[in-house]
Amino acid sequence: MERTGLVLVVCGPSGAGKSSLVRMLMKEFPQIGYSTSCTTRSPRAYEVPGQDYTFLSHEEFLDLQRAGYFAEWASVYGNLYGTPLNPTLDILGAGKDVLFDIDVQGALQLRLTLPAGRYVFILPPSLKILEERLRGRALDSEEAIQQRLAAARTEIREAGWFDAWIVNDDLGQAYDALRSVYIAATLAPGRRPLILKSLLDGKSAS
Ligand code: ADP
Ligand code: 5GP
Repeated sequence: MERTGLVLVVCGPSGAGKSSLVRMLMKEFPQIGYSTSCTTRSPRAYEVPGQDYTFLSHEEFLDLQRAGYFAEWASVYGNLYGTPLNPTLDILGAGKDVLFDIDVQGALQLRLTLPAGRYVFILPPSLKILEERLRGRALDSEEAIQQRLAAARTEIREAGWFDAWIVNDDLGQAYDALRSVYIAATLAPGRRPLILKSLLDGKSAS
């Protein structure tokens, strides 16, 4: 049965739990494609180049940006990040769903290109807990943590237009909410436009 690929965008302040939730969703639904972003940030020890991110120099990034390679791009916490357009369109064209973990400015831009997506905003239970989680993650310098905390307030003010808000207090409950948003989106009639005709033609709905 022909189906249309779904765009699921997970957004929210650094430390809100986006990567944790995205990993859980990809594990349960391995058929979902992940949009690997490009970034000028240095790789973290555990990151796999080409899988977590494509790591580029500033010049390489700007060359691609000028060539129109990105569906959206933004400067986030002092580094450049961008979503390649064509790989996403290829995955969607093949009827596969695509998951994005991008910042708020990027999500706003992406909505212009991919308005039919589901845009989900992950919120921390409080700014104090967000700070504790950023420190507990032990990935960022004190300066980077302060920068990310300051940005969190601005990002939360932008959350009004999203399709869903998920407070990540208990990780399991937040994950249940995210998978519900995803599953509900896959049930929209527009996702499988030929299903009724197929049934009425005496064929299988699946
Ligand atoms: P983001 O991708 O949004 O920056 P992460 O997924 O890296 O956030 O989460 C930030 C830190 O908080 C990580 O150390 C992660 O293990 C932890 N974390 C995420 N969700 C929860 C939660 N619900 N309860 C406690 N710790 C959490
Ligand atoms: P990190 O450096 O912690 O992996 O990510 C920092 C921020 O950049 C996160 O909010 C993440 O969602 C965002 N980000 C990652 N990839 C992209 C992208 O392609 N575009 C935009 N706009 N933001 C991104």
